[in-house]
Amino acid sequence: MLNIVLFGPPGAGKGTQSQRLIEKYHLIHLSTGDLLRAEIASGTMLGSEAKKLMDQGILVPDEVVIRMISNKLEANKHAAGFIFDGYPRTVAQAQALDDLLQENNESISGMIELKVDAIELEHRLLLRGRESARPDDANPEVIKRRIEEYMSKTMPVAAYYKNQNKFFSVNGTGSIEEIFDNLRKTVSSFT
Ligand code: ADP
Repeated sequence: MLNIVLFGPPGAGKGTQSQRLIEKYHLIHLSTGDLLRAEIASGTMLGSEAKKLMDQGILVPDEVVIRMISNKLEANKHAAGFIFDGYPRTVAQAQALDDLLQENNESISGMIELKVDAIELEHRLLLRGRESARPDDANPEVIKRRIEEYMSKTMPVAAYYKNQNKFFSVNGTGSIEEIFDNLRKTVSSFT
């Protein structure tokens, strides 16, 4: 299996590049943000609990997203691989993912960071705030909180994969095509 973790702050372009990677490598896209928004749209209890946190830019509890990922892995045992987008966002989530994959004698192939500088990120998020239908994109206070959550809880996940020699970084600025080309080269370097 080809199991890729895409890493980067809100606005880094993980969603856009995930779509390209899925097409090229026939992977299954696992975005915990999308899974949570689907729960909200279906009006489930889990969705309404998660929404309270998401609307404030706070991470939902690890056990909630770990359970969602576990269900998806179980349901797609024969996939060519997965692209993890927006997961793992804490070291505990990364450990749980390793354990879940290990149960099927699988592992993460590599984590790829989309590197974007702070000024470019701010510009992209402001633009997205005007166009996006997501409530957490429209409010600058919420965006600030999401970036704080990223800095304190998610950044350490990079070190977790560095320790396993599975961390790679690509330039996340330029055209969608250029960025994808760099991603493709990185993927071929670890496969
Ligand atoms: P972005 O990367 O732009 O912040 P996402 O769609 O990945 O957008 O996430 C939106 C929100 O969903 C996050 O702010 C958080 O509240 C929640 N969320 C998504 N994935 C996770 C996760 N792995 N762990 C905890 N919370 C999550």
